[in-house]
Amino acid sequence: MGMDRRTFLKLGGALALGSLITPGSQLLLASQENKTGNESKTRWAMVVDLDKCSGCNKECEEICRDENNVPHYGNERYDAYWLRVADVKQHLPGVETRERHIPLMCQHCDNPPCVHVCPTKASFVRDDGITLIDEHRCIGCRYCVIACPYRARSLIFRKSDKWTNEEVPKMMIGVVTKCSFCAHRVDKGQDPACVEKCPYNGLIFGNMNDPNSEVAKIIATKNTKILRPEKHLGPKVFYKGL
Ligand code: SF4
Ligand code: SF4
Repeated sequence: MGMDRRTFLKLGGALALGSLITPGSQLLLASQENKTGNESKTRWAMVVDLDKCSGCNKECEEICRDENNVPHYGNERYDAYWLRVADVKQHLPGVETRERHIPLMCQHCDNPPCVHVCPTKASFVRDDGITLIDEHRCIGCRYCVIACPYRARSLIFRKSDKWTNEEVPKMMIGVVTKCSFCAHRVDKGQDPACVEKCPYNGLIFGNMNDPNSEVAKIIATKNTKILRPEKHLGPKVFYKGL
């Protein structure tokens, strides 16, 4: 089913609200087993099934924050998000208006402008296609925040004491953060926390270069869409039911 202009504009507005991320420095060295891009043996991807996502209480936002120590101050000016669920009304000709709940996060682009503009090489792509930030290299210039058309990155403005998961470093003030696809879990053979804990099984994760994986099979049906296709960035988050 196609996305009409009004839906697209509303979604654009939701993207413009901004969201966030955060990696852990110990993740940076992991999984360097092959080349980035289509030729790689492993290319992690996510399918978001919007027909299953009910919006619930946006539980995945909280799950993500707790898994990755993402601070939440209850203030839009300072809050950081790795994952944000946008509520969108979809108007389609001849079809009843319906509400969609669209989880938005870093799309782990194959051709990421955030990496290209980073002057310190703090932003980089792992060989398995996951884009990360080395917070010890990040100088907080925010070039990447401006370069990302998905508004997936944000700066940590305030000191945070949130440390709900000791496996992941505390957020550092003055650096940029974003979704890491829970690389610390992926490296242990686990799914990202939002995928594992979504109560409606609306998120599916896997290696899209493995034709036998569930994500590869779903993407092969061509019933999925990517966001902002006109940018030609090769995002690896695919939306079913958009
Ligand atoms: S969605 Fe944004 S932050 Fe994520 S890889 Fe693409 S350009 Fe970079
Ligand atoms: S804010 Fe950090 S990660 Fe982003 S471009 Fe600047 S140095 Fe690189």
